Amino acid sequence: MKIEKSLLPEIYSQIFDSLADVVFMINIEGPDLYRFVDVNQAFLDITGLKHEEVVGRYVHETIPEHSLHLVLGKYKTAITEKRIVKWNEVTEYPTGRKYGEVTVVPIFDKKGNATSLVGSVHDVTPIREAEIHLAKTMERINDGIVSFDTKFNYTYVNSSGASYLGKKPEELIGKNYFDLYPEAAATPFANAYKTALKTQKPIEFRALYEPWNKWFENRIYPSVDGVTVFFLDITEEVERENELAHARKEAESAVVAKSQFLDIAAHELRNPVASLYLMLQVMDRQIQEGKTIEPERISELLLPATRLNRLVSDLLNLSRLEKNLLSMHFEVFDLNELLDRWTNEMKHVFPSRDISFIRLRHKVECDMDKVRIYQVFTNILENAIKYSHGSIRVKLEDAESIARFIVTDEGEGISEEMQKKIFDPFSRGGVDIKVRHTGLGLGLPLADRIVTLHSGKIIVKSEVGKGSTFIVELPKVQHEKNLSR
Ligand code: ADP
Repeated sequence: MKIEKSLLPEIYSQIFDSLADVVFMINIEGPDLYRFVDVNQAFLDITGLKHEEVVGRYVHETIPEHSLHLVLGKYKTAITEKRIVKWNEVTEYPTGRKYGEVTVVPIFDKKGNATSLVGSVHDVTPIREAEIHLAKTMERINDGIVSFDTKFNYTYVNSSGASYLGKKPEELIGKNYFDLYPEAAATPFANAYKTALKTQKPIEFRALYEPWNKWFENRIYPSVDGVTVFFLDITEEVERENELAHARKEAESAVVAKSQFLDIAAHELRNPVASLYLMLQVMDRQIQEGKTIEPERISELLLPATRLNRLVSDLLNLSRLEKNLLSMHFEVFDLNELLDRWTNEMKHVFPSRDISFIRLRHKVECDMDKVRIYQVFTNILENAIKYSHGSIRVKLEDAESIARFIVTDEGEGISEEMQKKIFDPFSRGGVDIKVRHTGLGLGLPLADRIVTLHSGKIIVKSEVGKGSTFIVELPKVQHEKNLSR
């Protein structure tokens, strides 16, 4: 068959060639027998073929083998169903990979027989490449990305998003969010999706997804078709932030406690030092004036000196305690006897106070560091004296392997909040307490440490305004072999 260079009049031929889309005309010569009768310049540019390599040749001679089956099938559909057929194709041309939207229109003669086909290919390569690039980018980012339609059916899920949800993207797409995760309905996440969709305004927030006990950062972008959500598991980050905030708070309160301690320590140390200094000045003057100093005057020096000695030794013990250097010297003694003697001494020292102790009828033999246990009892009883005005009851309970030393006062009591702190070094009752009571806030922390080194414990029961009971529970015999003796 002889084919003209172009079947179209010159003017149409020019338009035909100036089109950016590929256009071709095919004659139908029999079943699956199609011949190119005209193609435009765009066709030649894209395929890299010459006019004579296409026009006049059969389709099956021209187009690549692998796409032939698809193409012939579409032509057949257009002819038999007498309609326009469209499809997408990807073709490797000498000019590179091209994505095209192909349209084929069947042409019929007056008898209704299909005589030819007019085809066009719209090049969508830049759009498709951008889409592919975007999809690849979305797969690469760690954010989970999901898109919902307006009914909250999944329309897109990237692989990170699917793995956060413990599923494959294909298991989610088309499914409804609220059907799959009914527990999500009551969370801030579902509310935010709905709000974003309703208001058409993006929302960003971070929240705990309670059903999974995980924190997520969410960025929600609405459109009229639905919402797209970018989400990231930030649980570790939030936990780290919380730990940091906690550490910061602790450091701050340690700084406050230390500066309070310095205030108190300065105040506490100044008093006995000032007394000693004054008394010694007076004595010095008396000596210079040739006067004799009465022995009672010398004894008076002992009081502030003892206080100083006590404060310094508390500080020293605390520093040893913090370095784990507080050594123990265990010995066997009768605790009942010790307490009886000791309470009598205390009654002498504080004659105005009503201190009672009922001695048990039997020996309570204990294996403890006598000196340090004495220090513990003294601290607790002195506190009872310091922080109360009423009577004080001291008790010893002998319960098989355990000895309990109990001191009950009718004093100001200790609030629950303060009870948690009194064993921390430097913590003292109300800030103004230093005005009323002396002390460094070290007695109980030291006592607690000593008791712990005896495998025992101190229990506090107290009610503000009613009084306090301190119970020191100690095993009578130490089984630990690693305790120093
Ligand atoms: P200090 O008595 O030197 O302040 P402690 O460590 O012995 O230090 O006691 C810590 C704090 O515990 C005290 O400042 C006081 O607020 C509280 N406290 C201890 N014992 C009693 C008690 N029997 N009654 C009321 N408060 C007490």
